[in-house]
Amino acid sequence: MEKPNREQRHRNRMQRKKEVVDKAIARADQEKGLLLVLTGNGKGKSSSAFGMVARILGHGMKAGVAQFIKGRSDTGEEAFFRQQDSVVWHVLGEGFTWETQNLVRDIETAKKGWAVVREMLQDPSLNLVVLDELTYPLKFGWLDLETVLTDLGSRPPMQHVVITGRAAPKDLLEAADTVTEMNDIKHAFRAGITAQKGIDL
Ligand code: ATP
Ligand code: MG
Repeated sequence: MEKPNREQRHRNRMQRKKEVVDKAIARADQEKGLLLVLTGNGKGKSSSAFGMVARILGHGMKAGVAQFIKGRSDTGEEAFFRQQDSVVWHVLGEGFTWETQNLVRDIETAKKGWAVVREMLQDPSLNLVVLDELTYPLKFGWLDLETVLTDLGSRPPMQHVVITGRAAPKDLLEAADTVTEMNDIKHAFRAGITAQKGIDL
């Protein structure tokens, strides 16, 4: 028998691949509000979360954003999304703990912040809730993980939640549907480049 040519082999392989992919797509037919965790030391966690906010708005849906560690107030995402009617934007944290240097106040701020989040997690009109840098108050013990998991678990069934931040606790990863760990291979900051508008802020 003549050896099939390269193009024919490629077509056969792609056809088999298509069958596998089509079957997987047919199997994934459930609708569900997802819990996503974007963690790890590499860049891309918050910007990915805000990319999903843009997607939600593109579909005419509504999003809520809560920022737990207020790094800076001059970010492009905050300027842009605050202008959108379909986005509610809450700044719930102050600086990092080494900046505020007041543990009691940090805990109080985090707890007040969670009360605001709880309201968003009870609002079915919000299709997506982003909890940006939530892992830090969890890691520092300012927020009780059990309470957070309970409130996440009782949100509207079709509401998506994205949590970002380094060092996400194991129980949170277990509760999540989708987990991505950003891997820090290289970052321009270490080569002496300051944060660039549109990329880092
Ligand atoms: P981004 O908001 O760009 O998606 P991120 O949410 O993954 O980043 P954060 O830890 O929240 O990362 O840090 C936000 C800022 O710190 C951004 O300016 C980002 O470019 C920078 N950054 C993120 N990861 C690193 C890193 N590994 N080294 C140095 N700077 C970083
Ligand atoms: Mg971030």
